[in-house]
Amino acid sequence: MELERGRVIDPRVRDRIGELKTGDLFEVPVDTIVIHYTAGPTIGSAMNGMRDAGTSAHFLIGRGGQIHQLVGLNRVAHHAGKSAYAGREGFNGFSIGIEVVNAGPLGRDPQGIYRTWWGGSITPTGVYTGGHIHDSDQIYWEHYTDSELRVTEEVCDALCRWFPIRHILGHHEISPGRKLDPGPAFPLEEMRDRVLEKRRNAVEVAADTLLREREPEPVPEPEPVSEASTGALAALLRIVGAVLGRILRRNRPESGTGHAKPDPGGSR
Ligand SMILES: [Zn+2]
Repeated sequence: MELERGRVIDPRVRDRIGELKTGDLFEVPVDTIVIHYTAGPTIGSAMNGMRDAGTSAHFLIGRGGQIHQLVGLNRVAHHAGKSAYAGREGFNGFSIGIEVVNAGPLGRDPQGIYRTWWGGSITPTGVYTGGHIHDSDQIYWEHYTDSELRVTEEVCDALCRWFPIRHILGHHEISPGRKLDPGPAFPLEEMRDRVLEKRRNAVEVAADTLLREREPEPVPEPEPVSEASTGALAALLRIVGAVLGRILRRNRPESGTGHAKPDPGGSR
């Protein structure tokens, strides 16, 4: 994926910029990604829903892994609404919004059939069971498809190359009490840990490369000592040792007392 003036250039990405309401150019750097579910069955229903509500997101990911870009990445999209997290408010102003097609919370009717909020049915294999951190009573959710999860992570990886992303958050984290998306069926913790770890590694590699480029030319390593030359050196040392030994023996006092006897010949 490449980025050209806010447009993602990739054969898999369908450019639908301009179809939905779009905000102004970002005034501060984008450092956050917000993940949403559409609470609907299809890309088409999500587009209609956003058009009717006057909202938008930068990306819309379909059940089959389709990627639609709805807003240029240089512009504000209207996906977060009233939002606050870690001392900041108004997340539209510095975040990229990704909507993933998913029904969201499900009910279970007396016949045991799982129902979406609009009355659609979901087969049991498509149901994720688990409480929401902000709503433990809601325990049935539609599963995300593998394609959706893979493609969403891929888009997040690409966004980390283009923006200094520090946070990947669920809508429920910036609008608690008001929003539940993307819900417990979305493996948010795992995905953000992986993506942010990859980003940190990439930054470290880049920093290493910069540092290496600044270092002076490396001093050449000394020539490795070959076995032949170590052999020659050992032979030389043996000769030197033998010669030294002979000299020392010649000058050594004759007794083992350590006291040199006076020269019997006296000094001449
Ligand atoms: Zn949302």
